[in-house]
This record gives sequence, C-alpha cells and structure tokens, in this order.
Amino acid sequence: MLITVRELHRVYQVGDEKVHALNGVDFDVAPNEYLAVMGPSGSGKSTLMNIIGCLDTPSSGSYKLKDREIGKLTDDELAQIRNQEIGFVFQTFNLLPRADALHNVELPLVYAGLKHEERRRRAREALEMVGLKDRMKHRPNELSGGQRQRVAIARALVNKPSIILADEPTGNLDSATGEEIMAAFETIWKAGNTVILVTHEPDIAQHAHRIVRMRDGRIASDERRSGDGDGAAFRPSGVRAGDPAQEVRR
Ligand code: ADP
Ligand code: MG
Repeated sequence: MLITVRELHRVYQVGDEKVHALNGVDFDVAPNEYLAVMGPSGSGKSTLMNIIGCLDTPSSGSYKLKDREIGKLTDDELAQIRNQEIGFVFQTFNLLPRADALHNVELPLVYAGLKHEERRRRAREALEMVGLKDRMKHRPNELSGGQRQRVAIARALVNKPSIILADEPTGNLDSATGEEIMAAFETIWKAGNTVILVTHEPDIAQHAHRIVRMRDGRIASDERRSGDGDGAAFRPSGVRAGDPAQEVRR
C-alpha cells in the first residue's frame, strides 16, 4: 500500500477551544489510484491533504507513506520526504511572476541540487506532459488561467513524486478551463502517478476513479467506479466492519 491512514486525529487549539478537524480517519490508497476528496467546507479536507503531503503531522493515529510512520519523523526528514514523494498543486497557482514557465518548473530541482542541463531537460519534459511545449518562455501574465495552473502542475511533477496532491485545483477557474486541467491530471495518472484531488464540483470529481466524501472530520463514504469508461456508476468500496465510516454511511 502506498498510503495507510488509521484512526487519524488532528486537533487545533484555538484559544481555550479545541477544534477537532480530523476525528478518526481510516483509509488506504494504492499506487496509481486516482481519487477525489469531496465534502462541505470545514469537513477536514485540507487538513487531511496537509498531513498526507507531510506539511503537517497528526495529533494522534497513524499515517504511513510507503511503510514509513510519518508522525515519528523529524522536520528535516519530513522536508526530504516532501521533496522526493509529494507534488503539490494549490488553488492559487503560486508561480513566480517574473520567471518564465520553464524557470518556474525548474525551481524545485534547484533545491534538489540538480545540474542546470538536467533541470532544463526535466522541466521541458514536465511542461510537454501538460501540453505546454510551445509556452515554455512565457511568463505567468502571458498565460491564461488554465495554462498557469498547468505550469503549476508541471512544477509539481518535475521531482517525479509518487503522489500528486491538488487542493481545489480548479477552484479559481471557469468550467471549460477546469476540463483543461482535468485532461492534464488524466495524462499524469495514465503515466503511472497517484493523483489525489480535493474538489467541491461533482463534474470535476467524476474524472476520478474513486470518491471519498468527508463530513465532520470523518470519512462519510468511499466509492469506487465499477468498470471503466465515462459515466460508469460509483459503488461503495469495501469498508471494514466496525469502521466509523460505515456508521456514518448508514
Ligand atoms: P476543508 O478543507 O474541508 O474546508 P479544513 O481542513 O480547512 O476544512 O478545516 C477543518 C476544520 O479545522 C475547520 O473547522 C477549520 O476551521 C479548522 N482549522 C483548519 N485549519 C486550522 C488552523 N490552522 N487552526 C485552527 N483551526 C483550523
Ligand atoms: Mg480546504
């Protein structure tokens, strides 16, 4: 298993109050899954993504990424895992305005200490993958919203991470542009990557092969698409007996 999450809790202390953002989450993700996380605002989606992405650690419970217990790692070890295993895509693209697309995509490789030629080669490859071969020299303000987000996706890919995490990647885009982004994720998934995306939009979630719905810091349902091809029905995936998610679903 790529990801194993058990009885995961995340409690934020706000003044005298405790906010239970995650309230006992259990789920697994196998390599090369393509899953969407849905749920109302405040249900814990971003908190879960931040923990999976090693930006945050759980208050209690277990998160294993490739059999390593993430909660036990030091900050340096976490940073290293983030670099090697995780590619992030945010709602706001977070590109450097003065740098062209190629430069923006190269940046994570500068931190990884790669040589100039190798960086260029890998950045070009990532931009080609998202269909931006002919826009490499454009700066963000010379690109459309969808193209900017595709640059951000290429940047997430360039380290060859095992997981691509996207938190509402189409949230700032119109629906036609959203489809353009989903085509890029489809390509990335077909190349063998694991894709996990958070979205409010059912149309966007339908591109995934599994939909996890959150409510009040728990998993309310977990459905896989049976068969293949667009429009296939989603069916509940096997939830273990005694799993809190099962109770919520009834
Ligand atoms: P979602 O992404 O589903 O909208 P979040 O994971 O962002 O939900 O938030 C889950 C809950 O945790 C919310 O009640 C939110 O107010 C709270 N929360 C999130 N981040 C923090 C934080 N840094 N400090 C305190 N409370 C937080
Ligand atoms: Mg969120």
